[in-house]
Amino acid sequence: MSPSGKLVVVSGPSGAGKSTVVRELLGRLGGRLRLSISATTRSPRPGERDGVDYHFLETGEFARRRAADEFLECAEVFGQGHWYGTLWSEVRPFLAEGKWVLLEVDVAGAQDVLQKFPQALTVFIPPATLAELEKRLRARGTEDPAAIDRRLSVAQQELARADQYQYNVINDTVDQAVGEFTQILQDRGLCND
Ligand code: 5GP
Repeated sequence: MSPSGKLVVVSGPSGAGKSTVVRELLGRLGGRLRLSISATTRSPRPGERDGVDYHFLETGEFARRRAADEFLECAEVFGQGHWYGTLWSEVRPFLAEGKWVLLEVDVAGAQDVLQKFPQALTVFIPPATLAELEKRLRARGTEDPAAIDRRLSVAQQELARADQYQYNVINDTVDQAVGEFTQILQDRGLCND
């Protein structure tokens, strides 16, 4: 397959405001940029909707699809038995249409995507500081203290790999981060038609 669209891989610690930046970005560049909706075995947070925020799958269903090679990549994130993965069905048809497809994945997932799509554009969104990240995670209040500690420790490991990405977009403010991200995509050839 020689896709005419392009993959944009975005990683960054959970709680760094990555999803907010991505949502705003899609609002601005909705034309040719599409978000791949990941599958996960974790439970929905309040307000999250199946098929919009994630495809929420039972563990058995996730495993069945994994065995059937339905994932471009998948990984057990945070070592808690929760699986996350990118379904081929979220990517292939859109690349074939010439769309740019944005994947929000962890650093292991990003490596797997690059193996299959070496031309992918990679962007890391670090928090302004680790203290800021901790503050945001605690303020969100969606994880218990042990889960927050685990996420912070994974965040430190992820931050150590930020320089493996082509671009780092620091999330000082959402507006500034979205502006920088938009500029990167336009510099790399995305036209907003
Ligand atoms: P959350 O549970 O906060 O929604 O997501 C936690 C983390 O899971 C995200 O920060 C992201 O790094 C990772 N993640 C989300 N979707 C995927 C996916 O499809 N593949 C992989 N490998 N990681 C994902």
